[in-house]
Amino acid sequence: MHELSIAQSLVEELDAITIREGALRVNSFRLDIGAISGVEQHALEMALPFAAEGSNAEGATFDINIVVTRVKCKGCGNSWEPETFIGRCRSCDSNDIAIVAGREMVLVSVELET
Ligand SMILES: [Zn+2]
Repeated sequence: MHELSIAQSLVEELDAITIREGALRVNSFRLDIGAISGVEQHALEMALPFAAEGSNAEGATFDINIVVTRVKCKGCGNSWEPETFIGRCRSCDSNDIAIVAGREMVLVSVELET
């Protein structure tokens, strides 16, 4: 299960933050997950409490925010949010398109109990 290993590395990161900050435990945290990051939100929501057992993040609450995919044309700089396929630039018809958002998974904030 892909999401379990993601959850485990997140918990490791949370553990490291707790230790670095000299805190007792993690109360809550927020995650941004890109819509095309390949991470399935519900699977991750299921895996996180399981992965957090016995860690500093055990019992922590969390919010997951899905980041909408955003692309930018390398030719003309036009930027938009594709609904399905990235396709071609609507301004200049270039197919040299960069993904600028939607692939990330970021730990946005962590609330610690000190
Ligand atoms: Zn363009």
